[in-house]
Amino acid sequence: MENIHELKSILAIPEDIVITTHRNPDGDAIGSSLGLYHYLNQLGHTVRMITPSEYPEFLSWMPDADRIIIYDIEPERAAEVIDRAGLIFCLDFNSLERIDKVGDLVADRNVPKVMIDHHLYPEPFVDFMLSDTMASSTCELVYDFIERLGDRSKIDRRIGECLFTGILTDTGSFKYSTSPKLFRIVAELMELGVDDYKLQDLIFNSLEEKNLRLLGHCLYKRMEILEEYNTGIITLTKQDYTNFDIKRGDTEGIVNYLLKIKEVKLAAFITEQPTIVKLSLRSKGDFSVQDIARKHFKGGGHKNAAGGASFQSLRSTVRRFKAILPQYKEQLTS
Ligand code: 5GP
Ligand code: MN
Repeated sequence: MENIHELKSILAIPEDIVITTHRNPDGDAIGSSLGLYHYLNQLGHTVRMITPSEYPEFLSWMPDADRIIIYDIEPERAAEVIDRAGLIFCLDFNSLERIDKVGDLVADRNVPKVMIDHHLYPEPFVDFMLSDTMASSTCELVYDFIERLGDRSKIDRRIGECLFTGILTDTGSFKYSTSPKLFRIVAELMELGVDDYKLQDLIFNSLEEKNLRLLGHCLYKRMEILEEYNTGIITLTKQDYTNFDIKRGDTEGIVNYLLKIKEVKLAAFITEQPTIVKLSLRSKGDFSVQDIARKHFKGGGHKNAAGGASFQSLRSTVRRFKAILPQYKEQLTS
């Protein structure tokens, strides 16, 4: 962000600020939003957070998560808040399509906009962009952002807990996208009093029995391994959603189990949603699932974690996914 001085002078005056993040928000989306929220509050701004859809239950412990305005639940309130905003932050997404109808409201509001994000191919709909596709998480970038504004000393334990959450979830507990710089940041957060053990416990050991039954079902009944393509697929039907009483967030992380198989380089979790079929893709090494998501499923993301959607039936989507694999066979088997 070259023009950060300009943004710093905007932030010098108390302002109505909106922070928004992508639909089906994950730990990084909520962690970065809340981390930035607590920082901007300290500066004396009036800050509101908006997500297009609900956040998963395992994040509800986060400080002030209950203040997030969920567009699906309160569309009018979200619109009012955006109408009043003098500055809008867009966190953890790179294209207005990722925030559904909130995107139209943001596009129509003619005020300075800031993107802080780590997804590939950011779209230039903002005035200030902090985009680093090498960053582990948007939370890491929020830390950088506050530091670049000269306010590292304002990062307290509460902000630290929010940022740690997104770093933890987006790196799969420090398995992906790590760097010496990231570990230095995490060390600093711990020095501020962030209790890594407590947070891991809150985030990862908060499942209900049904979640483990669902995981068992996915691995036992819904998993297919295509040896020829070093690819694993797990599918879930609408009926599964009803049978297991699956809510948003309950399927988080299931796709990663496929990567535990030594040979698997490409993992796909394909689920039948009320109006679309959602694809959640993961890969190991140099194989880019971002490419598959973008070219074939109107989606995007990162090299090793991407997603998209299909407007066909679950069965046809799976068939189409399999039909794509031959073009990638060489990369998948070399
Ligand atoms: P997940 O599979 O956990 O839903 O998402 C993995 C990554 O892909 C995330 O970084 C997410 O932002 C991105 N992603 C997931 N679904 C979509 C989509 O429909 N469109 C785009 N552009 N990115 C997606
Ligand atoms: Mn992220």
